[in-house]
Amino acid sequence: MSSQRQKIVLAALALLAMTLGGSLTVANPPDIEGTRSGGRTKAAAASEAFDLANARIVDLTHPFDQQTIYWPTSPSSFELRRLHYGKTEAGYFYAANSLCTPEHGGTHFDAPIHFAEGRLTVDQVPVRQLIGPGVVIDASRQASADPDYRLSIDDVRRWEAAHGTIPSGAIILLRTGWGARWPDRKRYLGDDTPGDPSHLHFPSYGREAAEFLVKERRVAALGVDTASIDYGPSTDFFVHRIANGANVPGLENIANLEELPEQGAWIIALPMKIAGGSGGPLRIVALIPQ
Ligand SMILES: [Zn+2]
Repeated sequence: MSSQRQKIVLAALALLAMTLGGSLTVANPPDIEGTRSGGRTKAAAASEAFDLANARIVDLTHPFDQQTIYWPTSPSSFELRRLHYGKTEAGYFYAANSLCTPEHGGTHFDAPIHFAEGRLTVDQVPVRQLIGPGVVIDASRQASADPDYRLSIDDVRRWEAAHGTIPSGAIILLRTGWGARWPDRKRYLGDDTPGDPSHLHFPSYGREAAEFLVKERRVAALGVDTASIDYGPSTDFFVHRIANGANVPGLENIANLEELPEQGAWIIALPMKIAGGSGGPLRIVALIPQ
């Protein structure tokens, strides 16, 4: 649906609600600074207005299994070892496994410490920062023409021209269409040579766009449906450094972004709370008001 049509439909819904004597409440984005300063904030008002019971929920997480994609230099991948499965001697059923995984693979979280000394480890990132309004910026058309496409500042400006200024505390989700390639390693990373990351090709954020989002818009996190918030050929990992340096985490290998509207969803992105961790497995979901 075009944004123009969406606006017309929303206007019609508002009119209908008024006619029926009800009211249509539109949630405000959270104001992280306001939350810290205390008192009744936009975020508090929004949480009161949000109808959780009727929200559509989209799981943005790839499953962890034998297919899970890790960085080419990763010494190991996801391992699940069965400890028990079946009836015990006492007659009841019991199942348990042990798991082992590098932090950076599958749908996962890059804590600020990942590329910035002295910044937050995964357990230190405030949960408040990990729940926020989702801003989905679509670059799938550009990426299909150029697998090394980097989100430009013009792409961000175009999003704002259509939807308004990106709110501080937003969780940015860059949609490149690469999620559909999961778990085909070669198509997803552009190369599947073990141990060699020098021939990777996939789209992600560009330098100026990342700098603008982090410094001007003060977003809460940068997410993407590819393996990295830096594009495949990157060797300086500038986007990681600029984001992590400002205590902004990365969310990588996000799934199902094609199911999200460009705005209006609320994102909950909770990584495993590993003390001192530089990242880790992430469960990320979207709540879309209906
Ligand atoms: Zn990572």
